[in-house]
Amino acid sequence: MLKVAKTLQLKDFMEVNSAVILGSEPSFGEQVKPIVEEESLHFDIYADGSIARSGSEDSKVASYTYYDKNGEAHELGQWRIKINDTRYKNGKEKKPKMGDYVVRYSPIYEADIYYAKIPGKMHLINIKKKPLNYKKDDLLISYFHNSNREYVDIGAFASFIGALAEVSYDDVVLNGFTNADGIGNPSKTHVNGIYGDLRYFNKNKVKKKLLITSPEFDELRQNNFINALYKFGYKGMASFKYGEKNDKLVHHGKHVKGHKNHLHIQGYDLNHIKKQ
Ligand SMILES: [Zn+2]
Repeated sequence: MLKVAKTLQLKDFMEVNSAVILGSEPSFGEQVKPIVEEESLHFDIYADGSIARSGSEDSKVASYTYYDKNGEAHELGQWRIKINDTRYKNGKEKKPKMGDYVVRYSPIYEADIYYAKIPGKMHLINIKKKPLNYKKDDLLISYFHNSNREYVDIGAFASFIGALAEVSYDDVVLNGFTNADGIGNPSKTHVNGIYGDLRYFNKNKVKKKLLITSPEFDELRQNNFINALYKFGYKGMASFKYGEKNDKLVHHGKHVKGHKNHLHIQGYDLNHIKKQ
């Protein structure tokens, strides 16, 4: 279904045009003709797991609509897109033999990490400065953002929205996708804003830090959320073994050092979103 938002709410207009209106009290009288995008780059997210992308690929505004299982549309708002002129490969501790790269020190690895540049643009939005918190009846699309990695790829965010909507939990804690430059240090694998980190769910539905090996770990809700992420495009999880015999793994999980205290969502299927 083609759905193109052509007008912006005042609040969104102010965000979109923040560079224009910065420093002066804007007037939005009838005589003022707002400078708005003609079309947004739009994502339609369906409860069956499918996602469609439509509208202007040159747009600097991304918008999202979620369609629940009864077909009801939920308009979730618009975000200003930050376009970066390069993409990056996952970080390596070895300096690339050729080509351009950036280097960042990582306290996690206690080493310099090299991120090779690759051609292509990055389309990011800031989901901390402008969080998503939507509620209607039983539907809740919400997260707590606990990180300075405030940016996410516009398509990856559509998938994340689908999973949030499916479970409608009110205690999802996001430890971030990537930073403004799209490098995502101190991690190696948070380049381009595709992969994110989440806190493990607690049986008591509190949002405190939790090790997956804790008796408080909510395996059922964790796997529900992972199944939802899988359905919307995230095919792999970096996690940690748990259980009495330390032999259990979450759905689609791999045992990866350093993931006892958070889940890393990865294996994103870049073809999951269909262009219209
Ligand atoms: Zn991670």
